[in-house]
Amino acid sequence: MAINEDTPPIEFVAGGETPEQKETNLELVLPSPGFPTLTNLIADAIEKRSDLTVLDFTPNQVNIRFQIDGIWHSMAPMDRESGDYMLAALKQLAGLEYRERRARQEGEFRAHYLKRKTPCRIISQGVRTGERVAIYIDVPRSKLENIEDLGMRTSMKDQLANVLEQTKSGLTLICAMPGEGYTATWRGVFSAADQYTRDYYVLEEVSRVEPEVINVASETYDESLGETAFTQMPQLLLREPNFIAFAEVPNGKILDQICDLTVREDLPVMARAYGKNALDGLLRLMLLKSDHQKLLESLTTVVAMRMIRKLCEECRVAFRPNPMLLQKLGIPPGRVNQLYRPFIYQPEMVDEDGKEIEMCSHCHGIGYFERTGIFEMLKLNDSIRELLLKSPNLNQLAAEVRKHKHISMREEGVVLVAKGITSLEELQRVLKV
Ligand SMILES: [Zn+2]
Repeated sequence: MAINEDTPPIEFVAGGETPEQKETNLELVLPSPGFPTLTNLIADAIEKRSDLTVLDFTPNQVNIRFQIDGIWHSMAPMDRESGDYMLAALKQLAGLEYRERRARQEGEFRAHYLKRKTPCRIISQGVRTGERVAIYIDVPRSKLENIEDLGMRTSMKDQLANVLEQTKSGLTLICAMPGEGYTATWRGVFSAADQYTRDYYVLEEVSRVEPEVINVASETYDESLGETAFTQMPQLLLREPNFIAFAEVPNGKILDQICDLTVREDLPVMARAYGKNALDGLLRLMLLKSDHQKLLESLTTVVAMRMIRKLCEECRVAFRPNPMLLQKLGIPPGRVNQLYRPFIYQPEMVDEDGKEIEMCSHCHGIGYFERTGIFEMLKLNDSIRELLLKSPNLNQLAAEVRKHKHISMREEGVVLVAKGITSLEELQRVLKV
């Protein structure tokens, strides 16, 4: 990225302890040699909706990466001299000591751009190869408050609401991956229920409390005091909860206690764990040293979610898929005439007439815009339970599950591809990792 004097119209509010310090920091940074480059970088990051920008200072250059919708994009590297000037400006703007290049520093500033005040937080830290700087930008995004915003289909939502509102006992497992809607899925699940009909409680470790969910009471415990989710359980049970949810299952002992609780108290419970799909989440849970017999007797339902990028509707490119491809995807002939792929912009691209193609102003050449969820809901039955106890092997389990007309995450994803919401390559990427 070259120094460009023609900078975008961003107004900054500098960081600092006092209003005077903020004012001074801004006055110092405005005429500094690295300021135009910094302005371009921040504008680019905001326009592309990069919520995390990482600058790696190596001896020769500065490598720049944007995280957009959960995916890393490498930007053109910057020469070290320009990078050093830019970093000095960035640190000054965030109220940090710009000469300090080893010790960890953390600061904040605000950028007023595109009619929005955007909070930015930076962390800088010396590393073996030089210095690493992370810029966290609070980019605007669509609210993903309820489970339908997250992409769950109505038919599945109704089944989930039934579990939350009607079940008398048993364990429901909710799976997602960190950085891929792990919190949003958990919050969204509660939104599926009519929360006025029952008293829902969530047990959370006090240092990992997540944003409150309306009408769900949060009960905390403190691991640093040796407490677990069960320390206050007798008192909680006196309040006659209708549903207890465990935000995490740290070990097999807690898992055993959760299973005992649902059986003994005739109380429906829910727990959350990492998992790329329902079976993966289930197998991960079984890796904890717990009583598998007990677990499988309690466990009734597994809900899993993955996040997938949505094609930019402004620039996606339609194509006629060949029949073999449609057959492979399990799309019946004649159902879909066109699929879509992303338009990935490259500078100096030209069209058939040799005219330069402009970058899409909606997605800024990324080809995708925001994400949605693909959900899977697995109902356990005795044959699946039996197989899980006998040989918890993913392929065998997947084959067994298919026999019971279970809709897999891949099948759910193909629906999104057929609707043009996402691309086939994006679905393959998500299901591969
Ligand atoms: Zn676009």
